[in-house]
Amino acid sequence: MRDTNTGIVTCARCGAVLGNYMTGDYFKLIRMKYCPDCNVQVRKEYQRFWHSQHRQASRELNKEMREQIRLLKEENERLRAERFGADTQMSSQRFKGL
Ligand SMILES: [Zn+2]
Repeated sequence: MRDTNTGIVTCARCGAVLGNYMTGDYFKLIRMKYCPDCNVQVRKEYQRFWHSQHRQASRELNKEMREQIRLLKEENERLRAERFGADTQMSSQRFKGL
């Protein structure tokens, strides 16, 4: 955090004073949001969060794909049944290779 009156920059996480951008390295300090320790922690937390989001997303995608495949199989079975009537045994044999 930046105090615009005093120019003091503090860590947004633990509140440690990082410096004063009015007297110190302005461009370095205005970019800093966290102290080096917190920066490492925040990055780790962000990565953990990102990984869990990613896992969740791929689980949902898998579920969706399985559902799509199930629907396609059903559709396929239905089309075969329509085309070959009661003779589904034979049609199954015929399409085994597909
Ligand atoms: Zn900190």
